[in-house]
Amino acid sequence: MIGLGLVGLAAASLAAHGTWYRNSWIFGAALHRLPGVDDVVSLTFDDGPNPQATPVILDVLRREGVPATFFILGRHADRWPSLVRRVADEGHQLGNHGYWHRKLHRRGPAYVRDDLTRGTDAITGASGGVRPRHFRAPHGFRSPWVTSIARTLGQRTVGWSLGVWDSARPGTGEIVRRSVAGMLAGSILLLHDGDGYDPEGDRRQTADALPLIIDGLRARGFRFATLPA
Ligand SMILES: [Zn+2]
Repeated sequence: MIGLGLVGLAAASLAAHGTWYRNSWIFGAALHRLPGVDDVVSLTFDDGPNPQATPVILDVLRREGVPATFFILGRHADRWPSLVRRVADEGHQLGNHGYWHRKLHRRGPAYVRDDLTRGTDAITGASGGVRPRHFRAPHGFRSPWVTSIARTLGQRTVGWSLGVWDSARPGTGEIVRRSVAGMLAGSILLLHDGDGYDPEGDRRQTADALPLIIDGLRARGFRFATLPA
């Protein structure tokens, strides 16, 4: 009985690890750092497009010559397709963040497949034909089938190395400090150009922080790249 109890506990622990730890291998590998590079880092933006923040962020990236990856929410793509088109036209990578931004670890395979497919279709339609090759789950929450469904859509599941809680709006200076101090060689930084729950949520702090984050990371000797296929 004790043995079975321990086995059950171990199984529950592994499942919890797979769900809550975004880079866990339990439910399939998630890319959480850049492979084989010493001075390169990646900037990623989730939950957009957002009518206020995304254009400002794109202006900064263009001025600085920095490529980034945008994990776009399908329902926001449907609302602001021209911003999705601009992200693609300016050479950034488009990733799928699903359609509704519901937490997927509690949803069955049919729901997950529908959400990821709708997100993909919205992004491909808005961008003029770019099919996303990467997927990031809302909050990083996964279940046994999320990664494999993304794979059937041709999308590699991506986690992140460093989150700075910019979505909680801790202040521009704090976002900059956490981002510049916390990055290591090969790190993938999670930022938010949009709000997963409020289509017009305020992301000005992130947009204002971005030029200083780029300056700070360059001063540490880092270059910027998008995610490997
Ligand atoms: Zn999100």
